[in-house]
Amino acid sequence: MVHTVMNIMKYIGSSLSELVFPVTCACCGIKTEEIHQTICNWCRRSRFEYAGEDIAEILPETISSLFSMWFFDKGGYLQQLLHNLKYNHLKGVGRELGRLLAASYLRANDPENILQINPLIVPVPLHKSRMRKRGYNQARVLAEGFCELTNWDLVNDGAIARIKNTATQTGLTSRKRSENIRGAFAVQGKEQLQDQLIIIIDDVFTTGATTFELAHLLSELTNEKVKIVTVARV
Ligand SMILES: [Zn+2]
Repeated sequence: MVHTVMNIMKYIGSSLSELVFPVTCACCGIKTEEIHQTICNWCRRSRFEYAGEDIAEILPETISSLFSMWFFDKGGYLQQLLHNLKYNHLKGVGRELGRLLAASYLRANDPENILQINPLIVPVPLHKSRMRKRGYNQARVLAEGFCELTNWDLVNDGAIARIKNTATQTGLTSRKRSENIRGAFAVQGKEQLQDQLIIIIDDVFTTGATTFELAHLLSELTNEKVKIVTVARV
């Protein structure tokens, strides 16, 4: 109950701030060129380093590709932006990042080809205790923006659940992360997932322990390799 009230207050607070300061770039703080923009044109084009398809990473056999829009900039603007998206209820920014991610992904692929594939978009789920604390799942907000632009289907909320509440993975070795995350997800609604090509959406790709675990589960279910698309990659 206390959490719910806090979440409502936080939500109202963030909605108000987005209303009062609608034309300020969430990244650099400078006035944006268009009223609906939450990230200014200069930041979009020049602030971050494009990453694209990862051809260096050796991916598990359940994954066909890993695409990220930008390289993670430790201590930089992107880290700050993603932190705000996660903890400070900047949903408008999240959806805009999702749309930018979709545009970037379509540009990197043959758009006509990929638009016909009609994949199902699956954001990495959050454990319900974290969901209660934060009030929303930042990966789902990104996925909503992604689907707005592509018109692809977003998986139903709750179809896949995170049943294991893992502590923060920061600072752990990649082996330890994989051990921690094993069995963390469960499919609770199979119908929508079967025979689908799936794209997993997340904010940051670090060691891949979390997305690989989810991809493994989904690939077993669909008998198809899964694609991973993230805003940033370390
Ligand atoms: Zn800016």
